[in-house]
Amino acid sequence: MFAEYWNPYIERMPIEDLHKLQEERLRSLVRYVHDHSRFYRQRFQEAGVEPDDIKKLSDVTKLPFTSKRDLRNTYPTGMFCIPENWVVRYHVSSGTTGKPTVVGYTQGDVDMWTESLARALTSIGLGRGDVIQVSYGYGLFTGGLGLHYGAERIGATVLPTGAGNTERQIELMQDLGSTAIACTPSYFLYINEVAQKMGVSIRNDTKLRAGILGAEPWSEETRKRIEDSTGIKAYDIFGTSEMSGPLFTECHLQNGIHIWADLFLIEVIDPKTGMRVEDGERGELVVTSLDKWAFPLIRYKTGDITILNNEQCECGRTHPRIMRILGRTDDMIIVRGINVFPSQVESVLMRIPEIGDNYQIIVDRKGPLDVMTVKVEVTESTFSDKIADLMSLSREVGRQLKNVLNITAEVELVEPGAIPRSEGKAQRVIDMRRV
Ligand SMILES: [Zn+2]
Repeated sequence: MFAEYWNPYIERMPIEDLHKLQEERLRSLVRYVHDHSRFYRQRFQEAGVEPDDIKKLSDVTKLPFTSKRDLRNTYPTGMFCIPENWVVRYHVSSGTTGKPTVVGYTQGDVDMWTESLARALTSIGLGRGDVIQVSYGYGLFTGGLGLHYGAERIGATVLPTGAGNTERQIELMQDLGSTAIACTPSYFLYINEVAQKMGVSIRNDTKLRAGILGAEPWSEETRKRIEDSTGIKAYDIFGTSEMSGPLFTECHLQNGIHIWADLFLIEVIDPKTGMRVEDGERGELVVTSLDKWAFPLIRYKTGDITILNNEQCECGRTHPRIMRILGRTDDMIIVRGINVFPSQVESVLMRIPEIGDNYQIIVDRKGPLDVMTVKVEVTESTFSDKIADLMSLSREVGRQLKNVLNITAEVELVEPGAIPRSEGKAQRVIDMRRV
């Protein structure tokens, strides 16, 4: 029998007590960053705010926002609040544009990260007796080591395969009896594809029952596909390297990601105005860390688009939930003035049974006009059907995309395997206008 909660006292804490705890932690955090970081002192001064101005939880809105740009401008460690010889670990995220960003941890920060994941993994029913295959990259990327420590903390067995070498992953999954796997959803789909080619059925020939999938936006429809085709339960995981790494998952009810309120204070804002949106409305996630000391975050704009849900979950946890990440502010493509998130395209495609698991969105400019092409693989069985069927399928895909996106997309159906696979994050968007 697995524990229902890792930390029942905190996880089920009455909401008023949680708010009181957040308030106390916010006050000491603001004092701490003011006293220990020149960067924050200057920011507070510019915003005309003193640590003593922060008394209530709602005073958080008096604090200035921070963003990835600040991290780049203070590269490598200008936002840290401790001397470098107190840092026990660095992680570095590869910047696709500009400088990479460096995150540092004290031992306490690593422990907070591990605690957060221990609660999360327990909430999806994992514990002693489970074999968790960690197929996120190990090294500078936070995914591998983050999950690794969390899984060990709950007494599970870790199989640290890292990303890649897919056939061997599948052999080890069988030989050592992996019951859960942590990787990107696109990589899990690829593992399933390779397994089928090897004559291995994930459902019948392995003990796998849970996937801890994230590090890229994915849709509810993809979850359904993964669960239907492999028999596992697929759980969404969230966290960013600036926040520590992967930190939070859905609970076993699979209805939103629990954000531990004693560790992070979250807001959802309109990225243009900086004002908070109503609960239930889409906006950018902003986080303030409440128990992180080497590199604390004050109102950090994550760039992730989500929806906040403050209703209490039926699992008994009182902490707020965010809905699945819909995309990133910088992933959003603007086609002919209309905002398009790759996850919207994905949710349309994954509802159509003749369509395979892989797609790419290519945006280009022809003369003055943006042209969006959705290149998508069909399934093996569709591919072997007649050409005429493919043409009506292509029209149907175009029609459904137009319904959801409100713009016309060119649809290009390609044979199974035609779109390059990735062992980490999939490249879903190619924007030729930026080349
Ligand atoms: Zn729950």
